[in-house]
Amino acid sequence: MRIDLHSHSAISDGTDTPAELVEVAARSGLDVVALSDHDTFDGLDEAVAAGETLGVRVVRGMELSCVRSGSSVHLLAYGADPESPGLAAELARVREGRQGRLAGVLAKLAALGAPVTEAAVMERVGDSPSVGRPHIADALIEAGHVQDRTEAFDRFLSDGGPAHVERYAIPVERGINLVHSAGGVAVIAHPWGRGRERVLPPEVLEALVQEHALDGVEVDHQDHDRDARRRLRKLVQRLDLLGTGSSDYHGTGKTDHDLGCNTTDPDVFAEIDRRMAARVG
Ligand SMILES: [Zn+2]
Ligand SMILES: [Zn+2]
Repeated sequence: MRIDLHSHSAISDGTDTPAELVEVAARSGLDVVALSDHDTFDGLDEAVAAGETLGVRVVRGMELSCVRSGSSVHLLAYGADPESPGLAAELARVREGRQGRLAGVLAKLAALGAPVTEAAVMERVGDSPSVGRPHIADALIEAGHVQDRTEAFDRFLSDGGPAHVERYAIPVERGINLVHSAGGVAVIAHPWGRGRERVLPPEVLEALVQEHALDGVEVDHQDHDRDARRRLRKLVQRLDLLGTGSSDYHGTGKTDHDLGCNTTDPDVFAEIDRRMAARVG
């Protein structure tokens, strides 16, 4: 059984349609794939239907934009009900925040000598229900201001960067509670990737487990080096967490994140599956 529990379609910031993504999963020899677009459930029905045709089980996922101590934290939700009123209201607020932020970012970019138009960004957004920084990065590439997304983030868009504008995100404690009340399983994505370890040190993860019943953390992710994976594995054992492995695939939008490059142990997935079934109303 090959299981990959984190991927993005063009509904958020990937490049494949949900059905194309499931085709790639089938070609990559995956038995199970979770589609987990940022702050939206919109691609799931299409992905599930494609999975039924292709013999791939598609898990209904979503990656929720959360925050802790002013830094962004990503929370994967598996099997959460899109109709759950609390979660739906917060998702709408997150998406509005993204839209409202765009004008602020574009003004800063213009002042920094790297102007792009809102139309150019919206062209990159395509069918996605929300504007993300990767879309702005793509517009910067198109305009010739940067070579690739990495340079766009390094020079302009990263947290605290010269063109960064704060936006609304959900405190991670509240995010976990919302996922649970929507019947979902809550797993923190890449908790120790890109300097996040200072935002989510072991004692904070422990508190999230004890006070909010956090279900799991992603262990095998390309943003984690060998040492981070080894230490996270130990923590997962000590706290009795579910430790997952995933690609965080974005199509051609992110290199070195091919579907199935990291996978989740079948026993861990069986427990996630059991919890998803147990929590559905
Ligand atoms: Zn993420
Ligand atoms: Zn992701």
